[in-house]
Amino acid sequence: MQYHLNVAHLYGDLMNPYGDIGNILVLQYFGKQMGIEVTSELVSLDDHFDPDKFDIVVFGGGQDFEQTIVSKDIQTKKADLTNFIEDNGSVLAICGGFQLLGHYYVGADGEKIPGIGALDHYTEKQEDNRFIGDIVIQNQETGDKYHGFENHQGITFLGENERPLGNVLEGHGNNGEDGVEGAIYKNVYCTYFHGPILARNGELAKHILINALKRRYPDADLSNAEKVTIPATY
Ligand code: GLN
Repeated sequence: MQYHLNVAHLYGDLMNPYGDIGNILVLQYFGKQMGIEVTSELVSLDDHFDPDKFDIVVFGGGQDFEQTIVSKDIQTKKADLTNFIEDNGSVLAICGGFQLLGHYYVGADGEKIPGIGALDHYTEKQEDNRFIGDIVIQNQETGDKYHGFENHQGITFLGENERPLGNVLEGHGNNGEDGVEGAIYKNVYCTYFHGPILARNGELAKHILINALKRRYPDADLSNAEKVTIPATY
């Protein structure tokens, strides 16, 4: 059986400074091996986000200026995005996207930029500093190590019901203080990794596809998915 999953590339025309769109190409690459056709559509300013139409949302990172624009528009999509998340929809949110799923982000100039509070984290500013460089984390549930590159001014603190994507082995992570990176809530995966993350961490791509497949097709045959081999890319 040929399965089909549809990805919403949320603000992909504004939030894509490090080629985070590559995450969608990776979902298509692994999807093909798993018998899943993965299509994608841009959902941007003034567009309606229809939670029934999509299986996965990919929300990339962004610069502060673009985040102020997205912050205003995303309030109109807040209810639908929150429903999608609560209904176990899959989300991959990177850096600026991660920040805007939480309560707020304080930009480098001190402006407080509202998020949608779908997840319970918040992001403060650093004093004249950015966290830039290679990063390695370890997911405590699977033992998988994820490799990537971080570049962020904001420092994020997780809230209730969220668990980290991993513990920091090298690099800074969410805030440089508590030793954790990213967030997981239901089928939402947040991270500061650019690179893009799924290109270097195929296990995570596979995991996101399986979550989305099970939700759309509760009786899906997962035997092809289990056979997919992940190339070592680092
Ligand atoms: N503008 C945000 C920050 O500097 C997000 C950066 C990004 O997405 N790379 O923290």
